[in-house]
Amino acid sequence: MYTLSPFDQDKLSNYMHKAFDRAKNFIGYPIAQDFDYALLYPLLKLPLNNIGDPLLSSTYDLSSREMEKEVLAFFADLFRAPENNWWGYINNGGSEGNLYALYAARELYANGVVYYSDATHYSIQKNIKLLNMESIQIRTQSTGEIDYEDLRKMIDFNRQKPVILIANIGSTMTEAKDDITRYRRIMHELRIDNYYIHCDAALAGVYSMLLDLKPNFDFTFGADSISISGHKFIGSPLPCGLVLIKKNHKDRIGRQVAYIGTIDTTISGSRNGHTPVFLWYAMKCMGKEGFRERAVACLANAEYAMKKLQEIGIPAWRNMDAMTVVFPALRDKTLVEKWQIATGGGISHIICMPGVTKEKIDEFVADIALFEQKEMEEEELVP
Ligand SMILES: *Cc1c(COP(=O)(O)O)cnc(C)c1O
Repeated sequence: MYTLSPFDQDKLSNYMHKAFDRAKNFIGYPIAQDFDYALLYPLLKLPLNNIGDPLLSSTYDLSSREMEKEVLAFFADLFRAPENNWWGYINNGGSEGNLYALYAARELYANGVVYYSDATHYSIQKNIKLLNMESIQIRTQSTGEIDYEDLRKMIDFNRQKPVILIANIGSTMTEAKDDITRYRRIMHELRIDNYYIHCDAALAGVYSMLLDLKPNFDFTFGADSISISGHKFIGSPLPCGLVLIKKNHKDRIGRQVAYIGTIDTTISGSRNGHTPVFLWYAMKCMGKEGFRERAVACLANAEYAMKKLQEIGIPAWRNMDAMTVVFPALRDKTLVEKWQIATGGGISHIICMPGVTKEKIDEFVADIALFEQKEMEEEELVP
């Protein structure tokens, strides 16, 4: 049954070639590539599924729930979730974590208004639309951090409605971080009690905690929910992520379903049973110390990349403690394609994730230098 025609064999082998080739020049997106999960390959023979609530048992027991629970506990500890008052699940990534958090916030505050900055990941806007919530977009500073004055003004205009605040813990384009301590100060000054803070920590959440980077954003600093991606800093061949929330905020979500013998508390029904094992494996192999070392190496590479770009005259910059190096939008289409460089709002970036080596950075910088030189020579030819 499982044999390909020669034509399709060819097609597959071409595709596989191309995929490995594209992996060689992949510095534009925040995806770790240095993982090795070979020991887990036998599990690909099994239809693992963590359907339903991870913290409860289910009749569907061909799962990795036990590992999922360990991973969740690790991150609950890392993000300093209140003991005995947290809940979470492993999902498909940061976008689903954002959707879950906004859903929980809406169940809590049906007429709440969502405030998010214009540097916020596109999934927030999409999820707001899906949930039919009211929202206001807030200006950002030039670094990509939210403009607190604009935020205060907008909240004040709408002060009769509950406030749902999104904080970027590493914005998508510049890895800027919003300060939830300042959010809470604004709430306090405006005498607003009904508010909810979600930290979208998809990219920078894990290493920010491990290295105690500022501003703080964990549960003890006022987060009501935090979401991260698993395939970014940690690394996974399958997209994944995780959302954590104060347990008392989600009690209204979930329904007993006889068919699966558990409570349906998650966004998707069937859930990936393999990704929790990948995350568990990474967590066990590296531990906090290993993750920390990786992060330190990445930050050093980011500093290196910024300097190298500056040396060839590119005004590159990065936010404090960011793995993202920002520079004016790359003009050469060939380079954009070759290096898979994300561009938006007049800027481009590379992200020095685990797996991005100094050699890669050198190669990239050399490509840009060559392009710049060609441009200059052409300009000189124009009379
Ligand atoms: C990547 C990212 C997301 C989306 O995460 P996915 O795992 O791709 O769904 C959301 N927010 C931020 C800030 C991100 O960097």
